[in-house]
Amino acid sequence: MSTTITKGFLDDEIFSIISKAASEMGVKAFVIGGYVRDCFLGRPNKDIDIVVQGSGIALAGHIAGILHTNVSVFKNFGTAMLRYKGIEVEFVGARKESYRRNSRKPIVEDGTLEDDQLRRDFTINAMAFSLQKEDYGALVDPFGGIRDLSAGIIRTPLDPDTTFSDDPLRMLRAVRFATKLSTPEQEFKIVPEALDSIRRNASRMEILSKERIVEELNKILLTPKPSYGFELLDSTNLLEWVLPQLSKLKGVEMIDGKAHKDNFSHTLQVLDNVAAAEVQAGREPNLWLRWAALLHDIAKPATKRFDPAIGWTFYGHEIVGARWIPKIFQSLKMPLNEKMKYVQKLVELHLRPIALVTEEVTDSAVRRLLFEAGDDIDDLMILCSADITSKNPQKVARLKDNFELVKAKLVEVEAKDAIRNFKNPITGDYVMELYGIGPCNLIGKLKEQVKEAILDGVIENSFEAADAFMREAALKEGLTPVK
Ligand code: ATP
Ligand code: MG
Repeated sequence: MSTTITKGFLDDEIFSIISKAASEMGVKAFVIGGYVRDCFLGRPNKDIDIVVQGSGIALAGHIAGILHTNVSVFKNFGTAMLRYKGIEVEFVGARKESYRRNSRKPIVEDGTLEDDQLRRDFTINAMAFSLQKEDYGALVDPFGGIRDLSAGIIRTPLDPDTTFSDDPLRMLRAVRFATKLSTPEQEFKIVPEALDSIRRNASRMEILSKERIVEELNKILLTPKPSYGFELLDSTNLLEWVLPQLSKLKGVEMIDGKAHKDNFSHTLQVLDNVAAAEVQAGREPNLWLRWAALLHDIAKPATKRFDPAIGWTFYGHEIVGARWIPKIFQSLKMPLNEKMKYVQKLVELHLRPIALVTEEVTDSAVRRLLFEAGDDIDDLMILCSADITSKNPQKVARLKDNFELVKAKLVEVEAKDAIRNFKNPITGDYVMELYGIGPCNLIGKLKEQVKEAILDGVIENSFEAADAFMREAALKEGLTPVK
């Protein structure tokens, strides 16, 4: 056992409480996994995993008694969890695992700390701190986790073929940790043996549930530089299993010396641009905006045409793409709710702001955009600005300048006309009462005419203007007010 004493990492009082309780019960307890790793990386972590040589559930129960807190017990998993002052502590008994071919659910037996460390996914996730009085804080690092951490290496403790074939989720976790732990100062790399092994074992993905796959994808999407994760998924052949539609974006075709962009690398660039824009705007990462970035050009391969006069076109890819979103979400068992609709809307509208940049920016075009995007207009502008990628920096600079003009125009028109949360000033009830009529198609038609008139700037967005306009239109339909 290593005798490195780690100072400062176990100062929180929860650790001495666990230490004392374990000694009272005559069992050994260790902090293990992510918390230990993140201590050395200087990343704050409020999730603590405790492994016990003995019963994790019994130790958790004892501690909950001391702290007068509740404990949640997950009997099937042999784990227990309690919360203390904003920290979440999970307890598990040290275990030995063996796997069957058709499931990532292991057969579990009681084991030692060493057995338990062997079942962990990566060397950097297998380090433990002792909570025993005699060597409190000693680092137990049997596989050189510290060495790999400082070298930025993701490596499995066992033969990678065993680790990945036993539980293929670990292949996605390898990509996730490489992406999440990388910083501008230090890139985390998956060791070549493990990369080769992932390629060999990619088809093991078939035993994973879609929910687990999406959980990992989401975590990759939420990192500061998601492109790295998707490049890894691609180079390990996992992408085919995860999101085959995205693989189809790869490649460049050339006809008559004219080539189009590689839509896969463009998409990843847009994704990174969105992530950077969120940071710059001081926003929290928005998972659904990132999905929209990932999928914004998804239908480009299906709409690609070559026109000898103008070159490559992808007409309608935003419409077809938006239509595909429910299918893609469903295939991944993702929610088919307002989040999906949001992604769908952003995909469908992603060209609209930039179209305003190249065409003349009329008030009515801006009002229509505000009307259709509603409260998602700011997100749409982030996506659209992120979509400006070109190898020609002058072109990018020119487009971005014009883009700022569109943004200013949006603010100006919104201040004047308040279209963003457009509510038709004329309601159906009002029309029915005014003319003494029941529900009929005509009401919808009149309301539609009012809406169009406001969006076109024929009348202003107020009840008085809308009412006068509507009365005139109604007269043409032969309606006169009853009062
Ligand atoms: P995060 O900060 O993202 O939560 P973490 O390392 O805590 O990172 P968890 O998914 O919370 O990751 O898992 C906790 C620990 O359990 C890991 O550090 C690892 O040791 C172990 N672990 C989790 N899932 C697996 C798995 N599928 N195979 C092997 N070990 C795993
Ligand atoms: Mg964790």
